[in-house]
Amino acid sequence: MSFIKNWLRADIQDINAYHVPPALDMIKMDAMESPFSLPDEMIKQYLSYLANVELNRYPVPDSQELKRTLRDLMDIEDELGILLGNGSDELIQILALACKSGDTILSIEPSFVMYDIIAKFTRINYKNVQLDDNFEIDIDSTIHAIKKYNPKLIFIAYPNNPTGNSFSRSHIIDIINTASEALVVLDEAYYAYADDSFLKDVANFPNLVLLRTVSKIGFAGLRLGLLIGDKGTVEQLDKLRLPYNINSLTQVSARFLLQHKNEINNNANTIIEQRTYLTDALTNINGLLVYPSQANFLLFQAPNADNLFENLKDNGILIKNLSNVPRLTNCLRVTVGSVEQNRQFIEVVRSYYG
Ligand SMILES: *Cc1c(COP(=O)(O)O)cnc(C)c1O
Repeated sequence: MSFIKNWLRADIQDINAYHVPPALDMIKMDAMESPFSLPDEMIKQYLSYLANVELNRYPVPDSQELKRTLRDLMDIEDELGILLGNGSDELIQILALACKSGDTILSIEPSFVMYDIIAKFTRINYKNVQLDDNFEIDIDSTIHAIKKYNPKLIFIAYPNNPTGNSFSRSHIIDIINTASEALVVLDEAYYAYADDSFLKDVANFPNLVLLRTVSKIGFAGLRLGLLIGDKGTVEQLDKLRLPYNINSLTQVSARFLLQHKNEINNNANTIIEQRTYLTDALTNINGLLVYPSQANFLLFQAPNADNLFENLKDNGILIKNLSNVPRLTNCLRVTVGSVEQNRQFIEVVRSYYG
């Protein structure tokens, strides 16, 4: 037996590593990244900021300036606390670390896989409630699960990934009220593309926090997420954050890049328009079922999805194949790209079925 097999926790050996397929030189429409790069006129100024970073020094440990930039970008009131994470994934991990062994994390499925994976890493129990056939929250089953499992944490992505829809607001309120001993975490990674948010509700519910990230609005490479919640809650959770978790390059980049609110909002609006274009174009192809989306991606069901996925790859376009995920038979997920990328994608799908 190898050393590591003897040494490592058996439950970790049993986990399948989170697999990110290589994109090679394909058009990347698989990971909800923004298709927009920095405008040329911004690059020179950006580089001058980077040149001034003192890389021999540790980063600022708790950057108030960066939080100010995020408050301005996302209209977060000063009354609410902000905890910064190395991506919102790190904040999910911090929340799980706040639980004790024997505690339970509850989520809905199909949803974001990191809730389950991080529960495993941290040895917290994980339970899920299945969404109904329209991928809406099944409120009776969810209330039942809350009473049965008495979860410490409830994760709900709003809008949901990979289904793309937002759930009924009143169901979410029911959950927050019923699970008064659980911290309800609404993951608003796709807030920029959605009609609704719970940002204005955070102050009204002591057991509600939000997660947001800059990954889906053009800056996935920065690795910067935030938790928004009651100041006292944030102050306690902050004890679990590793010092200097937001590196100096991310801090200086984010402070410069995220102040360009108009550009960021314009880009989001372009994506929303292109989402409509993609929805209409896919819907018009015989046999395809497109699910309504409040995010920067579309989930659709297609005959021979595995085959279409490979055909797109052969044509240089990478999307996400979910057809082997329970409940998502023959489903694929495509991230909204640039006008040109979307046109190319539609052309390949059309000719595949044509
Ligand atoms: C992409 C995604 C995240 C991950 O965000 P990072 O800030 O890049 O770690 C979190 N939650 C949901 C629902 C996502 O889709």
